[in-house]
Parts: sequence; structure tokens; C-alpha cells
Amino acid sequence: MRNESLSISTPVPILTTGKQKIAVASAGIGILLLLVTWAAGKAVAPVPVFLSALGLTTAGVVIFIREEYLKHPEGIKNNGVWFRSLTARGIWGWLVGVVFTGFYVCLYWFPGYLTGLIQLFDPLSRMLRGTAADQWFVYGSLYTAAMLLMGVKFIYKYRHNPYQRLRTFSVMFFQLGFAFLIPGLLMRLQQPEIYFTYFWPLSYYQGTPMAHQGYAGSGLGTFFFFFGLAMFFIGTPILTYFFGKRWYCSWVCGCGGLAETAGDPFRHLSDKSLKAWKIERWMIHSVLVFVVLMTVLLWVNVATGRGVLQDYSQFFYKTYAFLIGSAFSGVVGVGFYPLLGSRVWCRFGCPMAAWLGIWQKTKSKFRITVNGGQCISCGNCSTYCEMGIDVRAYAQKGQDVVRASCVGCGICAAVCPRGVLRLEGGE
Ligand code: SF4
Ligand code: SF4
Repeated sequence: MRNESLSISTPVPILTTGKQKIAVASAGIGILLLLVTWAAGKAVAPVPVFLSALGLTTAGVVIFIREEYLKHPEGIKNNGVWFRSLTARGIWGWLVGVVFTGFYVCLYWFPGYLTGLIQLFDPLSRMLRGTAADQWFVYGSLYTAAMLLMGVKFIYKYRHNPYQRLRTFSVMFFQLGFAFLIPGLLMRLQQPEIYFTYFWPLSYYQGTPMAHQGYAGSGLGTFFFFFGLAMFFIGTPILTYFFGKRWYCSWVCGCGGLAETAGDPFRHLSDKSLKAWKIERWMIHSVLVFVVLMTVLLWVNVATGRGVLQDYSQFFYKTYAFLIGSAFSGVVGVGFYPLLGSRVWCRFGCPMAAWLGIWQKTKSKFRITVNGGQCISCGNCSTYCEMGIDVRAYAQKGQDVVRASCVGCGICAAVCPRGVLRLEGGE
């Protein structure tokens, strides 16, 4: 393009191609349809509007990311990541954070404000589940769509790396199948709505007497109740021994899946300081203790004929549900992606991650081995570690990385220009 500017700063648009501008317009209109329906509080012509929103957004995102990633070299490029408003806590970052946070606040505490969106998703809910939509169905649908679309982006970006392709495909598969389609179909079959990829303590309700009573009369529900306990006490230690916590955090879990896909542009925002590491250990283990105490109290209450601890155990349960189950895991965990990075919940709050981390740190064969002599101290690995681990410090010392918080995403190895890092264990 000819440069006709008299300014010394370049006027040449280098950020987007013509195709990408059309794609942004398409996705923008699709998202606008959702926002207008949300604001209106009423869905007009839900089926055509829903299909248009879905089609325009999907087409726009896919065209944009194909243009963005397939026409450029694969892998990380560091091009302007700390200078873009969206990825460097600028105006766009804050704006997206506010919209995400606002959505979560409505979802948990003011679902009445989501009436328009709920009506919009009603036809899909009736088709899949045989029942009317509610705010959780809207949430599950948007969550799954975000993971699938951003998962495709992630696969394009790291298309040279078989590990990244495989684990991204895995989280997309588990989300679509086990956290969206199967629970919906179970509801259609008049069975409990079971999410096989979430068990206690991450799904804190699953270990409670209320869940046990709720499943009474359902063979599948009872099976799932004991399956969840077996996964906690037996499955997790064994799988973590062989594979590290990555078998769950980077391959199965929906929270980790969203962080890896939709949260990928924000992974470098994780705090790498020693202070953050200290806070992380205190917080995550406190949440684990909290959920264990809360669950024990509920069972003691049942065992003592609900006389002694009724109010006390319910208070504990409601406090946990509000503070950890809603405010932390949802509002802060996802709403603050553009401000605090993509794994705030996994790093500071998830009790399942704490349990997995204990096994990973003390018993697992998994580690990141380091060929320290090759390290040029570029810092890519530390920058893109979403768990705030200063990987470079280990590489410089030639010391293997064995950290409770490492989710085994493998990004540090993928972005290392010298092939210094290698995820090992379980082979
Ligand atoms: S140390 Fe590497 S594998 Fe572990 S969480 Fe950080 S980037 Fe992922
Ligand atoms: S280990 Fe690799 S990515 Fe990390 S500082 Fe060294 S050369 Fe850079």
C-alpha cells in the first residue's frame, strides 16, 4: 500500500486484512444480537435470531482466526502482547472484564435480568433436554460455544505441536460431550442432570447428603455419587502418580478448558512474584480445608438426626456456595481473565487443584525436565506460564520443575525457542 502520510508515524493499517474486517463485522453483528436481546429482556423471533447470532458469530470468528493464524508462522510470536489494549489491561481489557463480570453477577444473583437470553435459548433447550431453558442452560451453551470456537483458534495457533492439539481436542470433547450434550440428554430421559467430568470437591454439592438424597431412586445417580468419591480417593492419586495433575486440569476439566481456550490471550497476565506464590498456597489449601469441613459438618448433622448442627452446617454450606462456588469460581475466576490472567480460580481457589497438587508435588512421576545449558534466558516460558511459575529461574539453575500448581499445559515447552523444557512422566 502506498504511504501518503506526511507524518513520521506509519498510517499503514497492519493489524487486519480486508477479510478480517468483514469477519469482525459478522461476529460483531452476531454478538450484538445477543446483547440487544439481553438488554431488551425479551426475545423476538427466537429461532431466526438465535440461528443468525450463532451463524454470524461462528463464521466471523472462524474466518478471522484462519486469516490470523494460518497465514502466519505457527506458535507464539510475542507481537505486541504487552501493547494491545485487550491483552495489556488497557481500556478494552477493562471493558471486557466488566461485561464478563456483569454477566456472572446477573447469572448467579439476578437471573431475572437474563430473561431475554433465556427465551432466546429456549428452542435449543426444548430440542436437547425436552424442557424450558433457564439461566444455567444459557450459561452452559455460551460456555461450550466459547470453548469450541476458541479451541479451534488455539489449535490453529499451536498446530505444529501434537501435545497442544491433542489436549485441546480433549477438553473440547469433554466439554461438548460430558458437560453439555450428555447432561441434557439425561434430562430428556428423566434422569438426574449429571456432569461426569465434575466431582467433589470441585463440584462441592456432589459430596453432600443433599446430593445423596437427591439421587435416591436413581441407579445412575447413586452410581455417580460413588463414582465421584472413588475418583477423589482412588482415581486422582493413581492418575496423578502417572500423569501429574494435567490429566484433569489440562485434559478434562471445563474450568481449565475455558482458561486454556478463551483465556489464552490473557495467560501472560498471571502474577509471577514470590508473594503471589505464597498467597496461592495459603488460599488454595484453605479452600480445600473449608470444603472438607463443610462436607463433614453436613454429614455429622445427618448422622446426629439433624438436631445439633442444622443451622451451623447450613450456614457453612451457604457461605461456601456464595463465596467460593459463585463469587470466586465464576465472577472472579472468569470475569477477571483480562485483568488477572486466565487461571486465577485454578491457581488460588480450586479445591480439586489443591488435592491434585498435593499428589503431584509429593508422589507423581510427572515433572518438567530442563536442559539448562541451552537456556538463553529469553523469559518466554515464565511470561506465558498461566500458573505464574517462574520457569526461567528453574531453567537457569538446570533444575527440574516440580510444582504443585503446574497444570502441565506444556505451553512453557511450546514457546521455548531452544527446546530446553520437556514434560515427562507417565510415558
Ligand atoms: S510450568 Fe509450564 S506446563 Fe506448568 S503450568 Fe506453567 S506453562 Fe504450563
Ligand atoms: S527455558 Fe527456553 S523459554 Fe525459558 S528462558 Fe530459557 S530459552 Fe527462554
